[in-house]
Amino acid sequence: MSNAPAGAPAKSSHALPSYLNPDHLGPWGIYLQQVDRVTPYLGGLSRWVETLKRPKRALIVDVPIELDNGSMAHFEGYRVQHNTSRGPGKGGVRFHQDVTLSEVMALSAWMSVKNAAVNLPFGGAKGGIRVDPKTLSRGELERLTRRYTSEIGIIIGPNKDIPAPDVNTNEQIMAWMMDTYSMNEGATASGVVTGKPLALGGSLGRREATGRGVFTVGQEAAQHIGLDITQAKVAVQGFGNVGGIAAKLFAQAGATVVAVQDHGGTIYKASGLDVPALLRHVEEHGSVKGFEQASGPVETLPDAAFWAVDCDILIPAALEQQITAANADQIKARMVIEGANGPTTPEADDILHEKGILVVPDVIANAGGVTVSYFEWVQDFSSFFWTEDDINTRLVRILREAFAGIWQVAAEHRVSLRTATFIVACSRILQARELRGLYP
Ligand code: NAD
Repeated sequence: MSNAPAGAPAKSSHALPSYLNPDHLGPWGIYLQQVDRVTPYLGGLSRWVETLKRPKRALIVDVPIELDNGSMAHFEGYRVQHNTSRGPGKGGVRFHQDVTLSEVMALSAWMSVKNAAVNLPFGGAKGGIRVDPKTLSRGELERLTRRYTSEIGIIIGPNKDIPAPDVNTNEQIMAWMMDTYSMNEGATASGVVTGKPLALGGSLGRREATGRGVFTVGQEAAQHIGLDITQAKVAVQGFGNVGGIAAKLFAQAGATVVAVQDHGGTIYKASGLDVPALLRHVEEHGSVKGFEQASGPVETLPDAAFWAVDCDILIPAALEQQITAANADQIKARMVIEGANGPTTPEADDILHEKGILVVPDVIANAGGVTVSYFEWVQDFSSFFWTEDDINTRLVRILREAFAGIWQVAAEHRVSLRTATFIVACSRILQARELRGLYP
C-alpha cells in the first residue's frame, strides 16, 4: 500500500488512482505485473503503455430485486470497459459470490489482450454481479439479470460493448439480457450480447467454442513439444462449459482423462474416466461428486492432491489463482493449458518455467469462445447464418494462425508464450491507440 496520506496529491501524472493500486496480488495486480513484463519488448509503443494500466471506464451498479418471499435484496454489479482502441468492448458476465471490482477489471483487461491476440476487431470488457446464483430461484435470477442489464444499459450496445456468458451465466441469461436491452431500446437488438440461444440469433458452435479452442491450441502446442495426444493423460479442474467440453474433445482424440476436480470434489481413475458418462452425471447432479462408472471404482481424492496427479496435460478451467507458489512445485504435467482466465500466479508461472513445463496462457488458450462470439455478432449484423462446419473450420484456422505467430515471437525473443502473446496483443492495441491519437 502507498504510505501517502489519504487525499495527498498524486506525485506524477502517471500515479495510479487508489482503486487501481497494484500493490496486492489480486487479479488486477497480476495483470499489471504481466504488462510490466512485456513493456521492454514494445519498442516505441511503450510510451502508450500507461493506457493499458487503467480501465477506460468502470461502472458499479446497485442491483435491487424483490425476492420470492417478498423481501428486498441488493447486489453489487459491475461492467468494466478496459480498452476500446480496436473496437467495441467485448467480454463475459460472471455471477459469483466472490466477484470484486478488481477481479472484473483484470478480466476486462485480459479480454483486451485476448481479442487483440487473435486479431478480433474488439476491445476488452467484462461484467459481473457479486451473488451466489445457486441461492436464487429462476424468477429471482431473471429479475436480477434484467435489472443488472437495465443498469449497465447506458454503456452496452451492439456497437459499444457486447456481453457474453462466463462463470454461472448461460444462454438463458443472455436471452434475458437481450430482451431487456431490446425492450428499453424499443427494437430487437440481437447483437447486444453473444452466447444467445440459437432461436434468438445465437451461433452454432458457440456453446462448445471455448473448449474446442482449448483443445485446438493444446493440440498445436503438443505438436511443438512432441507430445502425442493419443498417449496423453489429462487432468482437468472445472467441469463446466470450458473444462467439460475440453475433456470431451481430448477423450475423443484418444487421450486418457485421469482426474477431474470441480466445486464438489476431486475424482481420479488411472485407467481413465468415462467422460460422456461424467458429463451426464454432472448435468443431473450438478457436480462430479458421487460419480461411479461401470468399468470399476473411481477414487475420490482430497482436493489438494489434484495438483500432484500423474498427468501429461493439466487444464485449469475453473477460476483465477488456482496454480500458486504453494502447489506449482507438485505439478507433474508437461504442459498446462489455461482454460480459465488467470489461473496461474506470476510466481507459479516462474516455477513452472523453471521446471520446463510449457504454459499455454489463457489469452490464447481460451480465445475460442470470443472468436465464435465474434462470428455470432457478425452473423447477427448480416442476418445470415453459417453452418457449424463453417464455424468450426474458421475457428480452428484463426486459432492455429494466431498460435503459430505467438510461438514464433516466443522463439525470437526467448520468452514465455504468455509474454509472447502479450507482445503481439499489446503491440496491436497500442498501435491502434497511437494511430487514433489522443482526443482532444
Ligand atoms: P462454468 O460455470 O460452466 O464452470 C465452472 C466450473 O468450475 C464448474 O465445474 C465448477 O464446479 C468449477 N469450480 C468452481 N469453483 C471451483 C473451485 N473452487 N474448485 C474447483 N472447481 C471449481 O464456467 P465456464 O464458463 O466453464 O468458465 C470457467 C473458466 O473459463 C472461467 O475462468 C471463465 O472466465 C473462463 N472462460 C470461459 C469462457 C466461456 O466461453 N464460457 C470463455 C473464456 C474463458
